[in-house]
This record gives sequence, structure tokens and C-alpha cells, in this order.
Amino acid sequence: MLHRINIQTKSRVEFQDITSQVRNAIAKSSIKSGICHVVTLHTTSAITVNENADPDVVKDIIDALDSVVPQQAQYRHREGNSPAHIKASIIGSSATLIVEDGTLLPGTWQGIFFCEFDGPRNRTILVRVMPDSP
Ligand code: ZN
Repeated sequence: MLHRINIQTKSRVEFQDITSQVRNAIAKSSIKSGICHVVTLHTTSAITVNENADPDVVKDIIDALDSVVPQQAQYRHREGNSPAHIKASIIGSSATLIVEDGTLLPGTWQGIFFCEFDGPRNRTILVRVMPDSP
């Protein structure tokens, strides 16, 4: 089953916790055991799984990416958003998670984040829940 999550980001760079939306997609699928793919459809955003208990973790990730990929440099891409493209490729466009007993099996402190690097924009994330083979 394919499920779409539409979100509106509010800043140029931000991480939005989408764990509850992904859990809802799994619940709607009625699949009890399998895997869940979470994919962003955009070249300047990413998906990651990391700590959602302490919001400073996300701030540190954003700061670390800024230090590795500065906003101003000798970039060639004429659209002017090369840092967003580079950060999106560093983090990656998808995450795969385990579904068991009809729900996600993340670690205790893990959340699923949509990573915006060129906002604010309207964004679409796809969630595909696949059952185990019989
Ligand atoms: Zn671009």
C-alpha cells in the first residue's frame, strides 16, 4: 500500500518529526509484519532516523552539516541551492524500518525525520508498507 504524507515546512532548514504520520500509514495498511519504506520525492530534502527525545540532537546535526557544507562557497549550480542538494545526498532520500505486530519497531529514542534543506516549501513523502513473504 502506498501512502502520501504532505507537509509544509516553515524554514530554510528544519527537521520535522514524521514518526506519528508513518505510524498512521502503517495502521491504515493493516499489515502486521513486514517492512516500511519512507521516501522523499525532492532533491533538496532527506529522510533520517535519529533521536527525537532531546531536540538539541537535531540542532547539532543541522550545525554539523552547515560546517561541512557552508551556505556560501564556489558552487556552480545556477539555482543557488547547491548546499541543499549536497546535504540531501549526504543524509539520503529514504529510510527502511521494521514493522512488527502492526506497528513500527524503532529504537527507544528513535524518531523518523523529514529533513528540509531548501524551505519553506510544500513537500510530499511516500510511505510503502510491504508484508513479509508468505
Ligand atoms: Zn537546485
